[in-house]
Amino acid sequence: MSLIVQKYGGSSLADAAKIKNVARRIAKTRKAGNKVVVVVSAMGDTTDDLIKLAFQVNKDPEERELDVLLSTGELVASTLLAMALHGMGQHSISLSGAQAGIRTDDAYSMARITDIDPSRILKELNKGNIVIVAGFQGINKDSDTTTLGRGGSDTTAVALAAALKAERCERYTDVDGIYSTDPRLLPKARKLRDISYDEMLEMVSYGSKAVQPRAVELAEVYNIPFLVASSFNSNPGTLIHKEVSMEIVNKVRSIAYDLDVAKITILGVPDKPGVAAKIFVPLAKAGVSVDTIVQNASVKNITDLTFTVAKSDLEAAMKVVQPIAKAVGARQCIGDPQWGKVSIVGSGMQNTPGYAARMFDTLSKAGVNIQLITTSEIRITCIIERVKVKEAVTVLHQAFELDKKN
Ligand code: ASP
Ligand code: MG
Repeated sequence: MSLIVQKYGGSSLADAAKIKNVARRIAKTRKAGNKVVVVVSAMGDTTDDLIKLAFQVNKDPEERELDVLLSTGELVASTLLAMALHGMGQHSISLSGAQAGIRTDDAYSMARITDIDPSRILKELNKGNIVIVAGFQGINKDSDTTTLGRGGSDTTAVALAAALKAERCERYTDVDGIYSTDPRLLPKARKLRDISYDEMLEMVSYGSKAVQPRAVELAEVYNIPFLVASSFNSNPGTLIHKEVSMEIVNKVRSIAYDLDVAKITILGVPDKPGVAAKIFVPLAKAGVSVDTIVQNASVKNITDLTFTVAKSDLEAAMKVVQPIAKAVGARQCIGDPQWGKVSIVGSGMQNTPGYAARMFDTLSKAGVNIQLITTSEIRITCIIERVKVKEAVTVLHQAFELDKKN
């Protein structure tokens, strides 16, 4: 008998009919002879609504109370789902994060799981129950409720799969898989049968919002196969796992993009030890996450430094950087919000020359000017004008034959 962890997102549980639909799917998995642990998110927009409500009664709600409040969304979903299963004659029990043995640190609203005591879940499974766990929550060492950060029930699901040594973790939402690029931008994007953890992580860091990076990282560490599929149909989803199938022909698996990029350039920076630290340490302290960083080789001990941040962080970043640029004797500091990013991703690209050349050639033929280039072993990213991103994705998708079977 296999043990499977399934996670259902808020849109899959948004009303009574959808909860019953999910219950039917779970019952089917159970009847196929599996032990099933289910992790749920809060119904629909419950979490957003609860946050709004909290701020209506107090502009600065106390973090302990806020976490207890938010955790109730998942409790509602878990109990209703257990009731729906009972109505179908299935033995089932709902558990809060605390009852499921999920222990966390003290960081309210962004707690990390420190360990899991799976004994209660195992006991319920042995009794023949389907166990429904409220996602996104745990308790700290004082037994106070904590939450794991927005989207955190994916993390709950993978962590439980690891603790229970489950065969796999299946995540069901209204997104039915991982595509060769965002199908809303390019309708002919193809769904991938599978993708490696590393490819997926590169894609989420470079613009894909299909899964929570923290859940993929955890799945990779514990080597848990992670299926992304829809709760609204029975189409095959995408399996995120260690190795992609051997017969994969396309070395480029997908194209990620990001429309929210701002660029900061500091011109005429004296090239001496410590200058980069002077700029980037205060940025990190201000909570600005810096992405691509490019520094030119210096001429006569003077260099230029360019980096990108999210467009929404530009103002905060400029506030930090401008006075520092001045203090280190730089000539000028320019912030520019109109950029985007396009990346090709694929593990097969490592050790195979020519991919960068083909990408640059394709972009140049489409008249797309490249501002900055960065790479990892399995990704090449170009910073380009935001208005050119859609065209860039389209021509690259074509050039790397991603519309063909992969
Ligand atoms: N309900 C929480 C949120 O909306 C957690 C989750 O959905 O995973 O962020
Ligand atoms: Mg949600």
